[in-house]
Amino acid sequence: MVLRSSIYKKPAHLRAMVEPGLITAAALDAVRALIAPGVTTLELDAAASRVITARGAKSNFQMVRGYRHTICASVNEQVVHGIPNDRPLVAGDLLSIDAGAEYAGWNGDSAFTVVVPGDAPEELVAPRRRLSEVTEGSLWAGIAALSRASHLGEVGAAIEDYIEANAPEGGYGILRDYVGHGIGRKMHESPSIFNYRVPERGAEVRPGLAVAIEPMVVIGDQETLVEDDGWTVSTVDGTAGSHWEHSVAVHDGGIWVLTAPDGGAEKLAPFGVVPKEIDGR
Ligand code: MG
Ligand code: MG
Repeated sequence: MVLRSSIYKKPAHLRAMVEPGLITAAALDAVRALIAPGVTTLELDAAASRVITARGAKSNFQMVRGYRHTICASVNEQVVHGIPNDRPLVAGDLLSIDAGAEYAGWNGDSAFTVVVPGDAPEELVAPRRRLSEVTEGSLWAGIAALSRASHLGEVGAAIEDYIEANAPEGGYGILRDYVGHGIGRKMHESPSIFNYRVPERGAEVRPGLAVAIEPMVVIGDQETLVEDDGWTVSTVDGTAGSHWEHSVAVHDGGIWVLTAPDGGAEKLAPFGVVPKEIDGR
């Protein structure tokens, strides 16, 4: 008989995931505060590392075999898994930052996208800003769907519907080859969380689920390639990509966004969802 660990965690374990979630959020906040033209993604990496270390946690990205950095930094046509480097950021770059922390044996994982501020042509910046806003909105639509869902497939359907409703004419591409995941003792656990509609209903949504929802959306076609560095995922057509992610717990009282200090209250309000703190009993 094969024993599998359940995808449904105990209340105390969900409670234990609050701190790594908050540390992940703090690391991303520190990065966000530094983003400006001339700054390199290696400098952003160092800032995230300082926060995670100072709070007694470890970078879970550094525990991924062959990866040495604390963040992934993906610029413009790079969608995810970009490696920090010494190229100075330029105003108008579309920058996605992904990071995670492991604390006391539990993990957090979160990402955001931003247009590097400064003087850049509006015709360059406006479509990038819109892409990021729609991607972020789709993440929150997915989280809101999770709060009401009976099965996980409803999350991907909500993400796809939101993107379809808010994309410009011609639509956006949603990456098919990369998806969200369960999270807990390991950063990447079962089940997969799709960012699009799939035929399967998916696992039942009930207390104990902890999942990282992470839509990856591009201006053009969703087809991607992995660069020669073996990591960076870029669009084949060269159009820009955006990536937003949160780790979310489903518990007895409702949902709580582990990687948002307010549990997601502000961003979920437009969807009529009120997150509830995890009491852990
Ligand atoms: Mg991530
Ligand atoms: Mg993830």
